[in-house]
Amino acid sequence: MAAMAAALRALGGRFRWRTPAVAGGVRGAARGAGGQRDYDLLVIGGGSGGLACAKEAAQLGRKVAVVDYVEPSPRGTRWGLGGTCVNVGCIPKKLMHQAALLGGLIRDAPHYGWEVAQPVPHDWRKMAEAVQNHVKSLNWGHRVQLHDRKVKYFNVKAGFVDEHTVRGVAKGGKEILLSADHIVIATGGRPRYPAHVEGALEYGITSDDIFWLKESPGKTLVVGASYVALECAGFLTGLGLDTTVMMRSIPLRGFDQQMSSLVTEHMASHGTRFLRGCTPSQVRRLPDGQLQVTWEDCTTGKEGTGTFSTVLWAVGRVPDTRSLNLEKAGVDTSPNTQKILVDSREATSVPHIYAIGDVVEGRPELTPTAVMAGRLLAQRLFGGSSALMDYDKVPTTVFTPLEYGCVGLSEEEAVARHGQERVEVYHAHYKPLEFTVPGRDASQCYVKMVCLREPPQLVLGLHFLGPNAGEVTQGFAVGIKCGVSYVQVMQTVGIHPTCSEEVVKLRISKRSGLDPTVTGC
Ligand code: FAD
Ligand code: NDP
Repeated sequence: MAAMAAALRALGGRFRWRTPAVAGGVRGAARGAGGQRDYDLLVIGGGSGGLACAKEAAQLGRKVAVVDYVEPSPRGTRWGLGGTCVNVGCIPKKLMHQAALLGGLIRDAPHYGWEVAQPVPHDWRKMAEAVQNHVKSLNWGHRVQLHDRKVKYFNVKAGFVDEHTVRGVAKGGKEILLSADHIVIATGGRPRYPAHVEGALEYGITSDDIFWLKESPGKTLVVGASYVALECAGFLTGLGLDTTVMMRSIPLRGFDQQMSSLVTEHMASHGTRFLRGCTPSQVRRLPDGQLQVTWEDCTTGKEGTGTFSTVLWAVGRVPDTRSLNLEKAGVDTSPNTQKILVDSREATSVPHIYAIGDVVEGRPELTPTAVMAGRLLAQRLFGGSSALMDYDKVPTTVFTPLEYGCVGLSEEEAVARHGQERVEVYHAHYKPLEFTVPGRDASQCYVKMVCLREPPQLVLGLHFLGPNAGEVTQGFAVGIKCGVSYVQVMQTVGIHPTCSEEVVKLRISKRSGLDPTVTGC
């Protein structure tokens, strides 16, 4: 650890620190003697989008700096370089999802001849330590990559001084001024705490904390019903914890609702409790340390209460724009969401200031879109490219215990855009081969392809619910992006025996009314 700390100090390089008094109000103070700015590109935010953009610009030979600073969560959780995905998002989430899936495989194992003494206890502390160690190795990897590409990294919180200058404030209060010809804002977002719920901030945690808990969260109430809520509730249940999801409306808003219902149906049949149509009003700590939650059941109007060890708020995210002093640079934000407004070139209201990733209005909040947008932006700025980021047909997967992968339009969207008569939906209920021997229930394993009805039947959307949905969906996303038709999918030879082959075997349309259950081989 001591060696790592020394190496980190070396990687940090020499800072041009200023005392706050000197730094304050010196417009253009960060310009060199010849009047030139410090950097060709300054990236604010060292997460998925910012790091990708900075590395690409450096590869193209430009002088680049990245500033990244993690404000600890209200519970005091803090982490290193890499942003949400690496530290408190995709990576720890997928590893904990994997930990939960392993529990299911251990239960299957005796059916396949393994002599495993049941039940097998799970050690949260051990899992968390392993996950956190991996995350720390990624933090380190990012620092090394920046160093190797000669990207200057500053661990400071940035705010604009003017449209070419940013003031960075380090943990101890030291300040630095940095100027650049181009500035990219990639500051992402943070979890929202619900307003008007007494005790929410005091006693609740968010996805910024859950992956860094040293001890098991125990009996948990997860409030919310989208990606974060269902994924976290899914792995907590899978790890054997008593888990309840409180949802005020529908699950997975914006997704195909038939698929969303199957996701929650599967979770409920595997032990996750659901409180539907309920909103919390108060959290208070009982003398024994447990948390008592009071809620309103919006359908009956009655009040309910329950006791939990942990309350996890998963009620959406807010953009990290408040401390950026955007008004000093003249960068416009949406008055409703406070997200940054950009055009198709990711340019803000100030032509040389750009924004990418979660902080931008109307963009998918996903790592691969932030990364691709960042790379393409750098190539346009410094590589002579004119290629724009295409946000259409972005594939995604919800890593619930039964994974849900999709790309393109939901059935509802397709019908709304093209009309019921012009849309054909092919579907199948299938049983993964590996479910057969242990006798796993496959009621929710389902795939549907939403197509135009007119030949050759352009595929508008694909929805896959089953094991490894992310792996399945990624490949088909290429075809759908390229404008594949139903006829072409049907001409594709399957790989047997897999779950993916169910997609190329979709013969039953919803309109036919025939039973879509796959039988036989
Ligand atoms: P971020 O990665 O959030 O990076 C922003 C960085 O800027 C942070 O380090 C922040 O601390 C820093 N910063 C903020 N303000 C300042 C400032 N003023 N000065 C300096 N630094 C600042 N996406 C997927 O594709 N797949 C998944 O499986 C997935 N799972 C997720 C699970 C969870 C629980 C969550 C919360 C998100 C998940 N996401 C997933 C979404 C994904 O993490 C984000 O879309 C992605 O990280 C956004 O990247 P970004 O570059 O916009 O911002
Ligand atoms: P979302 O904004 O997608 O969903 C918020 C959820 O919280 C909704 O179910 C919403 O209900 C509910 N909610 C909002 N306010 C309240 C309230 N006051 N009380 C009760 N419930 C409330 O947020 P997430 O944090 O789940 O996800 C953010 C983004 O992160 C996603 O859009 C996704 O792009 C990304 N992500 C991606 C993942 C992946 O790729 N696998 C995984 C996790 C996150 P209602 O519908 O009624 O408004």
